Amino acid sequence: MKEKLIREFKNIFKEEEGIRLFFAPGRVNLIGEHTDYNGGHVFPCALNIGTYAAVKKRDDNKLRFFSGNFAEFGIIESSLEDLLYKKEALWTNYPKGVLWALNEKGFKIETGFDMYIWGNIPNGSGLSSSASVEVLTGYACKNLYGCSITLAQIAHLAQYAENKFNGVNCGIMDQFACAMGKKDNAIFLNTNNLSFEYLPFKLENSKIVIACSNKKRGLGESQYNKRREECEKALIDIQRVKKADSLGSLTEEEFEEVKEYIKDPICRKRARHAVYENQRTLRAVNALKARDIKEFGRLMKESHISLRDDYEVTGIELDTLVQSAWEIEGVVGARMTGAGFGGCTVNIVENQAVDTFIEKVGTKYFETVGYRADFYTVDVGGGPTEL
Ligand code: ADP
Ligand code: MG
Repeated sequence: MKEKLIREFKNIFKEEEGIRLFFAPGRVNLIGEHTDYNGGHVFPCALNIGTYAAVKKRDDNKLRFFSGNFAEFGIIESSLEDLLYKKEALWTNYPKGVLWALNEKGFKIETGFDMYIWGNIPNGSGLSSSASVEVLTGYACKNLYGCSITLAQIAHLAQYAENKFNGVNCGIMDQFACAMGKKDNAIFLNTNNLSFEYLPFKLENSKIVIACSNKKRGLGESQYNKRREECEKALIDIQRVKKADSLGSLTEEEFEEVKEYIKDPICRKRARHAVYENQRTLRAVNALKARDIKEFGRLMKESHISLRDDYEVTGIELDTLVQSAWEIEGVVGARMTGAGFGGCTVNIVENQAVDTFIEKVGTKYFETVGYRADFYTVDVGGGPTEL
């Protein structure tokens, strides 16, 4: 990998010396979906796939970017004087957003850089390639310019950049999981107060297999905002009869007692998912602590059903991937992951069943939707590093 990155950098920027190499992971959310903006818990882990960078500091204030994944756009130039969102800056709005945020928060970046990046996670598929690029940029700047910034601060800054510079209304989970990843551990994060705990997630006899539907999210963004509004409405109705800071603060029993006060039946269904999914995440973590991976898998299935029936964010593509996975012997758990409407599923598959899984799910998917899914067999990786 190092040789490839250096070779590409030299080819593109015609520079030889002083090149430094960095990596930041993507992430997958194991359980706890659409709970992050409801004050609930999430349970993501960083992956051993993500985004690589070869970077060299410049003497002037120019910024030059090139992505091996978007080679058709060539070198995209900018400068430290031009840290504004621009449509024509394309993907470079993500690293530029981080530079802008560093500047806003008082970290001094005095000279520009040349940056080549290349990612081996799918884009726009719910594995947080955008957060991976942002954390990568923050981490590279920390090392190149000696910014005294912690990994947790990089996570916050990257989220700030995605929200305020790129105008994407995401919670903290993605950037947090990418920046704070720890090898063979998942992160049990309370999105209400950002307290977190690392939990060993080292599978002895199984692998994490990610199936990418190759269905782009399309309408996903407007639907995502709609779900957020529906949950907010449900909470307001509940607050008329019960003190509750968020849907994530309610137990299932408490929800059942007050649910009739949620006027709109659609909002009631959305809230039921938010409450039950949060409680399910707590149970899944307890199952893992008790080394009961079977129970963890069962809860993953429940999670998918709730996302399909109550939250209605799955669709034929994700349902086909997950339902065909459930039928295969040796599949411990399978569910959609990320915002939904496309993107990926996360599967825990016993080692001996991985090949059958990929073949059977892949075939069924192609027969049903008419194009192929991609499969990634991954490990739980650590946070950003210099190579
Ligand atoms: P996700 O974060 O789920 O992968 P997003 O839509 O949030 O999906 O982010 C995808 C965008 O992030 C891409 O369209 C691109 O702008 C940027 N991006 C991610 N990875 C790369 C990469 N390797 N090279 C250039 N841009 C990238
Ligand atoms: Mg993203």
